[in-house]
Amino acid sequence: MIIYDYEACNGCQDCLNVCPRGVWEIDARNKKAKIVNPTRCIDCTACEFQCPVRAIRIERALIPKSPQIIGAPF
Ligand code: SF4
Ligand code: SF4
Repeated sequence: MIIYDYEACNGCQDCLNVCPRGVWEIDARNKKAKIVNPTRCIDCTACEFQCPVRAIRIERALIPKSPQIIGAPF
């Protein structure tokens, strides 16, 4: 499961570039990362380690859950 701190994101795109599953995109409106394919995540933790501001945490779960997004205005 992805836990994403929207407020902390600086839009660097590192998560997009490292993710092997196309889970992330950058939102053109505000230049912040956006989870577009949450069910494709395989919990590899690459994005968690790559994010320079620690805006992403991956929690391994036996039963897949929806992503948690902190601070997003939607
Ligand atoms: S944990 Fe891996 S597959 Fe999931 S979003 Fe991060 S980089 Fe992509
Ligand atoms: S790596 Fe972190 S700071 Fe960079 S775009 Fe992704 S979530 Fe935002």
